[in-house]
Amino acid sequence: MTAMPDARPPAPIRTEALEALLTERGLVNADAINGLINRFVNDVGPMNGAKVVARAWTDPDYKERLLTDGTAAVGEFGFSGPQGEHIVVVENQEDMHNVVVCTLCSCYPWPLLGLPPDWYKDPAYRSRIVREPRTVLNEMGLALDDSVDITVWDSSAENRYFILPQRPAGTEELSEDELAALVTREAMVGVAQVGAPG
Ligand code: FE
Repeated sequence: MTAMPDARPPAPIRTEALEALLTERGLVNADAINGLINRFVNDVGPMNGAKVVARAWTDPDYKERLLTDGTAAVGEFGFSGPQGEHIVVVENQEDMHNVVVCTLCSCYPWPLLGLPPDWYKDPAYRSRIVREPRTVLNEMGLALDDSVDITVWDSSAENRYFILPQRPAGTEELSEDELAALVTREAMVGVAQVGAPG
């Protein structure tokens, strides 16, 4: 089935029109919007999530807190704010891989990963990852053994999922900072794994 052609103007134009209208009516403040965008483009990004992952890999008590109450545990780092209110962390296992999508729009844990990449917002990713996760992951470069089960988590306003990837072998000697440097945005969404150093 092919998608119906979208006759509406593209999202950036619609968004700009909406912002102009809301500003004109005094309902939003353009400076406040710019400040928020700048913060999540420049100051917040996947390095935040990587710090959380590295801490969980090296501190079992922290990991337990993270898996029990993600929002509170990431708050220990000061990571909070819009789209960070209901963080739910799921852990990848040897025989269970987890991947995150927002089928409705693009819900994403901003304080941990910054703003979502284009592929995450792509309607093709959002529909196909649910129907054929193994195929889509393969296309994105992650070939999982058939014995590994895949769970797809649908993020929403209620739950913003974040993946705790598996710690790669051969990293026993690495410091927390060195571990964090290995962790990619893709691994924290579940479309990749964390590779061994080198
Ligand atoms: Fe969404």
